[in-house]
Amino acid sequence: MREPIFRQSIYWCPECNVPLIASTCGCGTKGEELSLLKPYDVRPALSHDRTLIQELLNKRFGIEHLPDIILFNKTGGLDRNDLIIINGERFGWLTFDPLTRDYSIEITSEGLAMVLDQVTCGIADITEEVKSGGKRRIGGKKIPFECDLPDGPVLLKSGSLYGTGIYHNGTLRIKKIGRVDVRHWKNPSWEDAIRCNKPHLKNLERHAIRFIKHHRQDRPTCNVSFSGGKDSTVVYELARRAGVTASYFVDTGMEFPETIQFVREMKIPVILKGPDFSKGLEEHGLPKKDSRWCCEYLKLEPVSKWLHTRGPCVTVQGNRWYESFARSALPGAVENPFNPQQLNISPIRAWRALEVFLYIWWRELPVNPLYDQGLERVGCWMCPAMLEAETEIARTNLPDNYAKWDRELKKYAGKEGMTEDALRCGLWRWENLPPKMLELISKHNIKIKAKK
Ligand code: SF4
Ligand SMILES: [Zn+2]
Repeated sequence: MREPIFRQSIYWCPECNVPLIASTCGCGTKGEELSLLKPYDVRPALSHDRTLIQELLNKRFGIEHLPDIILFNKTGGLDRNDLIIINGERFGWLTFDPLTRDYSIEITSEGLAMVLDQVTCGIADITEEVKSGGKRRIGGKKIPFECDLPDGPVLLKSGSLYGTGIYHNGTLRIKKIGRVDVRHWKNPSWEDAIRCNKPHLKNLERHAIRFIKHHRQDRPTCNVSFSGGKDSTVVYELARRAGVTASYFVDTGMEFPETIQFVREMKIPVILKGPDFSKGLEEHGLPKKDSRWCCEYLKLEPVSKWLHTRGPCVTVQGNRWYESFARSALPGAVENPFNPQQLNISPIRAWRALEVFLYIWWRELPVNPLYDQGLERVGCWMCPAMLEAETEIARTNLPDNYAKWDRELKKYAGKEGMTEDALRCGLWRWENLPPKMLELISKHNIKIKAKK
């Protein structure tokens, strides 16, 4: 079967003002291409995130109204760092700082044209500074500036020109300033977006079902690995439509209660249980992003045991290329190296999170409520692969679990000689710190190892 292509952009219908997962809208109009940023995954802003953006924009700039369709393109950074896409343009950035534990929002110059007529505060008037600078170009410059604006992103005004900048401690870094023509766009709903993408969704579904049917006979039995997340919800549906009804879920014992409840509601017939996490912790120490003994211990082992009683099988799983760089080379069908009896097939490997949600909404599938609470991925509630922004949500939702977990973290970090400062910004999550984190600790002079 022909391998799907890896895409680095999405399209936007200029007529309907909706995102498109292929180049032409259901209305027949050719979409305008919008380049994405690595790892090129794009997803809808759901309820928690919409409220978050709305509150940040309101507090900082007095902006009150946002359109219904907002997308995030996750990108690299210290922690959560999402490019916000609105009206087919780069509207701004939503960033979580693992040190201050706070979000900030920045508007791009394209974004300004969407909201300038709503802005009531957060503007630094630099008309005089620009005048006194004569004809010199001011974009990209840092100027001393006294004002009572809080530190962070600001909007700039110079006569009739507007722009964006960052204010910090009496200094203003001017990003860009120029003429801004305020525009007004249609405000379609997600239902409109589903309608405009329906031909493409049908195509995706047809290909995925054909792919499952093609591989299901490769082994005597076929099942779905259901994790409780959005991707496995989609493959569960696709597999059902391809005639596969067997499924299993592995309960790591560290699942969010919402996930367990969701699995119950989905009536997944086989629930496998791994060994106790705390025993693994004693044996291996803290699980790390770059050393995840927990996956093998909590998930792969119980599946292996179960499969040994059943013999070879094909397993439909929801892994996607765009989830991470590590998965970007994932083949359509591959033997599980841990358990060669199992042939794992990934029918939605070429879907972005946008396709996943559009499909869920189109087919009216139930979805784990954790996404609406602000989590981007669903796994164990203390997973080292979570962003610190997500950990904050988990900590608020599960205060008792986190009180215990924080004690464990302190204990194990103490054994590893890690300081409380390093622990607080989540540095326990790496065995070997990546360059961006090394930069963070050197910039803020964070000590990692406690003195003996
Ligand atoms: S979800 Fe996270 S914590 Fe849970 S087993 Fe996988 S890597 Fe480990
Ligand atoms: Zn259209």
